[in-house]
Amino acid sequence: MRVLIVEDEVKMASLIRRGMREEGLAADVADTGENALWMAGSTAYDAIVLDVMLPGIDGFETCRRLRSDGVWAPVLMLTARDGIEDRIAGLDGGADDYLTKPFSFAELLARLRALTRRGATHRPTVLSAGTLRLDPATRRAWRGDDEIALSTKEFALLEVFMRRPGEVLSRFTLLEHAWDYEYENRSNVVDVYVRYLREKVDRPFGERSIETVRGAGYRLRA
Ligand code: CA
Repeated sequence: MRVLIVEDEVKMASLIRRGMREEGLAADVADTGENALWMAGSTAYDAIVLDVMLPGIDGFETCRRLRSDGVWAPVLMLTARDGIEDRIAGLDGGADDYLTKPFSFAELLARLRALTRRGATHRPTVLSAGTLRLDPATRRAWRGDDEIALSTKEFALLEVFMRRPGEVLSRFTLLEHAWDYEYENRSNVVDVYVRYLREKVDRPFGERSIETVRGAGYRLRA
């Protein structure tokens, strides 16, 4: 396993690197976000430990740019003890986990092991399909540049579609992922909400992205 440590504080960076090497991990250090971007662009790291406080672009911006550059290595963010907003911004910005400073090195390693088990799969923070985009963190959706106002349930249903574009989803699957056990007990609730969604995300834009697949369910055109 090869890890990229992004930390400008020399002492902290070398402490982490030394600890990792003792555990048999290969570890490189980037002292700025900009350096991290090119290093991660040229080497396939298995994980990235990213400090929030960096000179130049900070950890949040570094994480966003890594993701937009197509780097999907798991990112573990290092944040300040009472930086709840930092932790939220980091996770919503594409980080996979965080650790607050000061941390135990054993915990850092355990978190890295857990993260690398998930692998470097494509997991964008903003979902997109065609010209549709949806941001689960801010609960906003757009068709092209136009923002679409959706009810909570419409948003939930669209999110299910957008997590699996191009797949035929049965009414049961849609119900299972967008509703809980206290759902309105109407047998056609999914059809009703698909109709609402089409009225908002398709019809005003002359699109037909949510297709009916006869006898099977619905599909969002990829
Ligand atoms: Ca730092």
